[in-house]
Amino acid sequence: MRLLTEEQKELCGLISDFMEKEIKPNLREWDHESRFPEEVYCRANELGFNAFEFPEEYGGLGLDHKSILAIYETMGYYDTGLALTTVTTNLAWKPVLFGGTPEQKQLFVDLVLGGKGFASFALTEPGGGSDVAATRTKAVREGDAYVITGNKCFITNGGFADVYLVVASTDPEKGAKGLTAFIVEKDRAGISVGKEEDKCGIRITNTVELVLDGVRVPADHRVGEEGDGFKLAMRTLDLSRPFIGAIATGMAQRALDEAIKYSKERVTFGKPICKFQALQFKMADMEIKVETSRQMNLHVADLMERSLPYTKEAAISKCYATEICTQVAEDAIQIMGGYGYMREYPVEKIWRDSKIFQIFEGTNQVQRIVISGQILK
Ligand SMILES: Cc1cc2nc3c(=O)[nH]c(=O)nc-3n(C[C@H](O)[C@H](O)[C@H](O)COP(=O)(O)OP(=O)(O)OC[C@H]3O[C@@H](n4cnc5c(N)ncnc54)[C@H](O)[C@@H]3O)c2cc1C
Repeated sequence: MRLLTEEQKELCGLISDFMEKEIKPNLREWDHESRFPEEVYCRANELGFNAFEFPEEYGGLGLDHKSILAIYETMGYYDTGLALTTVTTNLAWKPVLFGGTPEQKQLFVDLVLGGKGFASFALTEPGGGSDVAATRTKAVREGDAYVITGNKCFITNGGFADVYLVVASTDPEKGAKGLTAFIVEKDRAGISVGKEEDKCGIRITNTVELVLDGVRVPADHRVGEEGDGFKLAMRTLDLSRPFIGAIATGMAQRALDEAIKYSKERVTFGKPICKFQALQFKMADMEIKVETSRQMNLHVADLMERSLPYTKEAAISKCYATEICTQVAEDAIQIMGGYGYMREYPVEKIWRDSKIFQIFEGTNQVQRIVISGQILK
């Protein structure tokens, strides 16, 4: 974070102010109630927080990858909710950016930036998470339209999205090569939001089932060609991995900072616990992990900005940052003893929030498939 430019520092300052004023005071209550604070997130969207990954020509800030990393790390430091909502909106946008026509890009931007500011990326299904080729949602061509039928599950932002990027099969016999992406507006007939999940962590995000029952979309809502869906989805997830890593790094940094602060205040056996070498070494190990994770994310951003291949490094950064995040949060709880386990302190929440980072956007086993595939090819 020391190497940030003045402009990046200013952006992170804006984010910190918003998180301090609008999120922090209510965080414990929202987490307890599992509430998606729509009005607060909408205010963040009005300030353009959801659009910093959008190019300037489409009304966004068009920021470079390192600035985006810094922003996500700052958000993650305070809480994961806004960061994940924002990452998801951008996850839905990326297939359109990569494979869409100028008209589709404009349509998507008008729906999101002209709406409440949320979008969903609807890939996962009850029978197909890691195994994307097992997608059962079908899109059948009927004249100048497609009719989409199926169930998607675990869809972030799903209850509040202005638009969904839906991946469906246009040719079930072809497996992954038969998948196609579609822009689906939220108010199309046949769309309904099903069960809202009651989660262990990231409780101020919205995760729902999405039911598509004969949803008719014009053929010009198909992104790319039939069969391009898998490629577009994988390219999107590849790009998003260091951003997930950045949020996790911010969370881990916060857990470490809380542990350091507490260790200077808590006295046992006549001295602050930070004087015990066992805890000093634990905190040093936590620092090694956080700093390594940050450097790994930055390395991926460097590769991206130089237009070099980054698939392996992006998978490493996602894997590493998300695994050390849970470890660092757990160590922070240990350093804080019984108090660390209480809701009064932020570290138990970071610990609960952290686990999902090893599961979504490709589980860490899937990341290892990607990494081993790259080194063995
Ligand atoms: C809170 C939350 C939010 C989410 N948000 C979204 C979203 O917005 N959009 C979306 O599309 N999806 C979303 N997901 C879905 C998420 O991406 C999937 O849960 C994830 O990809 C794993 O799929 P699965 O749950 O079906 O697990 P499975 O694929 O069934 O995996 C179960 C276990 O088996 C392992 N495994 C599977 N295959 C292999 C293999 N070949 N080799 C080794 N191990 C393997 C996995 O790593 C995992 O440990 C979300 C999930 C959650 C919980």
